Amino acid sequence: MQINITVISWFRRHTLAAHLLVIALAVLLYSLWPVAAFLVVSLYVVVLGVASMNMATNLFVDTLRHVHPDGGASSAPGGQIAISFDDSPTAGTAQVLAILKAHDVKATFFIVGAHAAARPDLLRQIVQEGHAIGNHSYSHAHTLPFRRPATILADIQRCSETITDITGVTPRMYRPPFGVVNPGIGQAVRTSGLPCVGWSLRSFDTAIASPTRLLSRITSRLEPGAVVLLHDYPAVTPQVLPDLLQEIKRRNLTCVLLSPEALQP
Ligand SMILES: [Zn+2]
Repeated sequence: MQINITVISWFRRHTLAAHLLVIALAVLLYSLWPVAAFLVVSLYVVVLGVASMNMATNLFVDTLRHVHPDGGASSAPGGQIAISFDDSPTAGTAQVLAILKAHDVKATFFIVGAHAAARPDLLRQIVQEGHAIGNHSYSHAHTLPFRRPATILADIQRCSETITDITGVTPRMYRPPFGVVNPGIGQAVRTSGLPCVGWSLRSFDTAIASPTRLLSRITSRLEPGAVVLLHDYPAVTPQVLPDLLQEIKRRNLTCVLLSPEALQP
């Protein structure tokens, strides 16, 4: 474990040197055994690709993906979980807020700065109704992972500034768009000083259209400590949310707000 931490910390500080080392090794191998050179480069690219798509590897930045499962016997007899919504505010936010209010449940919304600028009243409503907010980039652009770290950092800062201007609240957490963390995003997030927040239970509510299937996918994986990833814009989300909140209550689970203090790896 210690070796892994040492290797990871070296890799984060010397990513370019690591790339050059692999290329140098491949060039060296090429004259002796071309297939091996090809395999070394392919393996390196695959490892980086898999790590970029999977925040849990922590290769580029440490990520927090669970809440403390035990909130104390009196406050959370069945344990704690957290519900989070990405990409807000959207056309679906008001309906989701109404359902949360009816069930007296608080959640965390990861805000896209451009969406907040377009729907500032909805962002204010999220905060006024007692929900937590996090930074989810300003542009949420598909091209963001391929930009320079300085550009990604500027996008993160622009999102925080937009949220603060609208609500007076400065976000203390960052969740990368698409859950992608590559060397550039890792460097930008580390420089921003914001903890990088993932999830432990991906609902796939943007892909699963059947309410029955979606509810069963979430409830079968729900356990104390879980951080559930949802979105407030798919039509299916408000269809399953009331049943999900009822099931959470039936299991005596308490929904807590995400914060750097409530989170753990
Ligand atoms: Zn997103």
